[in-house]
Amino acid sequence: MLLGLAGNSCIGHILRCFRAKTHSSFTSPINSFQFSRSIYCATMASAAAGETRTEPVYFSDTYLFSFDKASVLKAEKLEGDSNDYAVVTDQTIMHPQGGGQPSDQGEITTSVDGTDVVFQVKQVSKAKDSQEIKHIGCFSSGSAELLPVGQTVKMTINEDMRRLHARLHSAGHLLDTALNRLNASDLIPSKGYHFADGPYVEYIGNVANEERDKLMASMNEVLSDLVKENIATQITVGDSGERIVSIAGLPCPCGGTHVKSTAEIGPMKVTRMKKNKKNMKMSYSLESS
Ligand SMILES: [Zn+2]
Repeated sequence: MLLGLAGNSCIGHILRCFRAKTHSSFTSPINSFQFSRSIYCATMASAAAGETRTEPVYFSDTYLFSFDKASVLKAEKLEGDSNDYAVVTDQTIMHPQGGGQPSDQGEITTSVDGTDVVFQVKQVSKAKDSQEIKHIGCFSSGSAELLPVGQTVKMTINEDMRRLHARLHSAGHLLDTALNRLNASDLIPSKGYHFADGPYVEYIGNVANEERDKLMASMNEVLSDLVKENIATQITVGDSGERIVSIAGLPCPCGGTHVKSTAEIGPMKVTRMKKNKKNMKMSYSLESS
């Protein structure tokens, strides 16, 4: 399953992460490097010829669960035998799967001449280097003919799912911050998997077998502190237009949805540290998820 998810076109779009140079705790060997994390960032992509563009409204508000200002750009049946369609709109509040974060789910609805149109969104996708976000799903009422170009629609997302995904993603970033604060590792963040069925972050490097329990215990103390300190998340735009998300003061280019501050993640801990080929795989869990 993990391999399948890792094969998503958004995962593997490697962007450079970096540590803030001004933070006083960022002086360890792991602070001076540039590390990569598998993330996607829609702000970096340019539209291909003939392709439509979807404004990622979820960039500016994790907590916008409903939105009625989107217009249809395309509503096309997918190839194959299923009854699935792809609906593309000029704006969306639905986060596509990518960057280690799962897809949102929800509904796209409207009413045309007294007929209700309800499109159940099962998956949201965005191809690498594309600015077009596709809502994949099926109609439980109405049809694609009732979604002509320019039709205004309302979107509603699964709120519980969005909140959980934001907490899981921010928690993954918080592992990096904890390592930084500990000043005790040369692990280089490489890949994040922020799904509820076993979230982890992989780091390039190694921790000796006999050191792992000690590092996990120290990290869990620091993670507890970081959550209690309730540090606000900051989102800015970098020099090249990339979206920079700072969780507990540690900036990283990222296209995910994140919590407002570390307290919202709630109690979390590293549950396992294991060698995985050349990487150290650090599994983590949230107390309530
Ligand atoms: Zn991220």
